[in-house]
Amino acid sequence: MLTCPDAQDLLSARMDGELAPPRREEVERHLASCADCRAVEAELRELDHLLQAPAALPPAADLAPRVCAAVFPPPARVIPLPRRAPPVRRPLWRAAAAAALLACASGALALLVRPRGPAPAAAAPRPAAPRLDARTAALRAELARVSRELDAIHRDLSAFHARAAAEARQADHAVASRSLEVTK
Ligand SMILES: [Zn+2]
Repeated sequence: MLTCPDAQDLLSARMDGELAPPRREEVERHLASCADCRAVEAELRELDHLLQAPAALPPAADLAPRVCAAVFPPPARVIPLPRRAPPVRRPLWRAAAAAALLACASGALALLVRPRGPAPAAAAPRPAAPRLDARTAALRAELARVSRELDAIHRDLSAFHARAAAEARQADHAVASRSLEVTK
């Protein structure tokens, strides 16, 4: 009598018609009496079916351009730069990163400059220097952390951009060779 592990080891060979009749009948007798192994067999058949399905369709030719357009949208309007600065086109992510850094820095600055608690009387003592130092250090640490995050975002976006460009080139190539075939 076959054990479940023995029977399950033979399921794949049975599906492929590789078992000699006595062995095959043994497995079939086990399956008839064992719901667990029948479930395993059903999963195997499902897997087999999936593996024989036609290969996944290739991505649409305009996938890469659309992804690029979504990630790097054209600017909605042109903001004129001061005259003395030559116009520099920068990737949008850089502008977004700079804006995020600026927002973060001004938020931290506001935190630093904001008076604490109710406004003190004119004779109130000046804030103690150590507290200011501590907050400056905290601000520096926060800015360093944000800067590291921006670097990571920069790396990710560069890698993504390179991949998208490569994919766009591939898609163009595929379209070109397909139209070449059509014209033949
Ligand atoms: Zn079994």
